[in-house]
Amino acid sequence: MPRIKVLPEEVARQIAAGEVVERPASVVKELVENAVDAGARVISVRVEGAGVRMIEVRDQGCGMAPDDVALAVRSFATSKIARASDLSTIETFGFRGEALASISSVSHFEIISSDRENGEGWRFACHGKEEVENSPAPHERGTTVRVRDLFFNTPARKKFLKSETTERRRILETMLSFALASPELELHYSVEGRSELDLVPAAAWRERVAAILGGGIMKHMVTLEGGAAPFRLRGFTSLPTHTRANRNHQFIYINRRLVREKSVLQAVQLAYRNVIPYKRFPVIVLSLDIPYDLVDVNVHPNKLEVRLRNERSVFDLVHRALKQALSAHSESTLQVRYSGVAARPPRPAAPAAVLADPELDYAAPRGGPAVSDGESYRSRIKDAYSSYMEGSASHREFNPQLSLKNAVRKPPVVPAAAGELKEEVGREDALFWQFNNAYIFIQVRGGIVVIDQHAAHERIIFDTSKKRLENEIPLSQQILFPIHLELSLRELEVFRTSAEVFHKLGFHLEPFGGTSILVRGYPQGLKNWEEGKLLLQVFDDIVQDRIPGNSHADRIIASFACRSAVKAGQRLAMEEMKMLADQLFAVPNPYSCPHGRPTIQRISLEDIESWFLRR
Ligand code: ADP
Ligand code: MG
Repeated sequence: MPRIKVLPEEVARQIAAGEVVERPASVVKELVENAVDAGARVISVRVEGAGVRMIEVRDQGCGMAPDDVALAVRSFATSKIARASDLSTIETFGFRGEALASISSVSHFEIISSDRENGEGWRFACHGKEEVENSPAPHERGTTVRVRDLFFNTPARKKFLKSETTERRRILETMLSFALASPELELHYSVEGRSELDLVPAAAWRERVAAILGGGIMKHMVTLEGGAAPFRLRGFTSLPTHTRANRNHQFIYINRRLVREKSVLQAVQLAYRNVIPYKRFPVIVLSLDIPYDLVDVNVHPNKLEVRLRNERSVFDLVHRALKQALSAHSESTLQVRYSGVAARPPRPAAPAAVLADPELDYAAPRGGPAVSDGESYRSRIKDAYSSYMEGSASHREFNPQLSLKNAVRKPPVVPAAAGELKEEVGREDALFWQFNNAYIFIQVRGGIVVIDQHAAHERIIFDTSKKRLENEIPLSQQILFPIHLELSLRELEVFRTSAEVFHKLGFHLEPFGGTSILVRGYPQGLKNWEEGKLLLQVFDDIVQDRIPGNSHADRIIASFACRSAVKAGQRLAMEEMKMLADQLFAVPNPYSCPHGRPTIQRISLEDIESWFLRR
């Protein structure tokens, strides 16, 4: 083996650069972070050739003194920390003093900065390790960094870049992630001279989030709040009916840093358990303030991960806030949209709590108009951020008045007591009918409620079964002549490992030699039993892994609920419809089936009136 040598600084820097500067988007991230750290409120980013040819970040922050400009580009040169103990209380994005050093080592790099009002500044430029300029240059207060020919001296890294479209999308995502978390920033971003983002400071956080994610999804998001400063959570999360196919639409910020924090992601997953389908993910923007000394940000080269000293409390805080927001919503939405129009009660001054603008108290922006120009760039974001649109709403909304939207001004909605709908549906004179042998229409005072009979029944069975499992009071009915079922080996395995769950559900099952079992009883009131066919279907669902769920027991219950629920196409008697509606409103999660499909829709009198332009 050759002798060990200490690598020349330049080579060491290029190696280190690989960690920080993975792609053009990482350069943009580091430079924008520096601008924010410098207190800039206005930041402009220009990109050419997907960031490889040129990235320019200009800010109007505090700038640097002439002597500091060249120093800033040196390794481990930082103004943000001075001693190791400072690492435990980092309030800035940067602290390692490595970004400019790394970026400049793999590009044609130029930085011009001024910390004064008289237009005098300093310029430093280098090509990789070779310094090409270090002299006075005019610049307004603030800093401009220009990075050209990225990776010109590290061809291997250049080869790893993806297509221009992908790299451009990553840059845009980076810009959006700053924009989402910092509504007070004025951000401009252009690609090949064409403007992609022009964001003025937003008056409220909600406004900025809506501008980025789109007003469409915003309507289906509820406000999250929890904790108290300095340990606090704020944000927005989508309703179970509006999910996405991946986690790309989950923005978690800890002390304004976008991170993939496991405990938070798990809390989100748990909060939505059983109300959204398997492998679907809510859209969520969540900002956590955590005391700086409880977060270690120095664990990841790109600082995309942090280490929390109190993971459990973060998990709890997020989980509780989500649960609260979602259950508050499911209790009130129906009534909110429903609004008891027939009675026309006086209009209250304040809108319903769930619809209220949170006005999350960001410092008021310095100057600048308070509105953001949503429409003009939203369509462009849609293109670039195409994954956003994929599988946009998981369930299409019934919204015949879309085209009339602008013609019709909706009156303010009136929140009503949570039990109102249940009560209305339960009224003697509520009118029920079945449509297409699949949907139950109920005419109530303020409009029409539509229930998907299969989804609703699934939900009822799922929730009551879960309760049985928890309370351990299985209600079963004995079969006069026990049934003997022949299982496959894998099915027998399911029986063996899940006997407890089946027992708690109300099944009396016994091994019967070989691969057979004997059924002596099944849950009371069971439909679709069909001489044991139902049980075989459940076994088969589990063996084939057909039914998603968070736990083995949940999968069994979900399969059982699906198989034993009334089917679409099954004619129901009036009494059956009434009972189903009654039971549905008595379960904890009436608004969606265990796979997350909605169970109830409503058409309010307002809706109908607006179709006919009467409102
Ligand atoms: P870090 O951000 O970790 O300190 P960087 O290499 O990103 O390291 O920057 C080095 C130093 O250069 C910073 O600490 C800061 O003092 C200065 N600096 C960098 N960018 C700017 C900027 N846009 N405005 C003012 N100062 C800057
Ligand atoms: Mg930095």
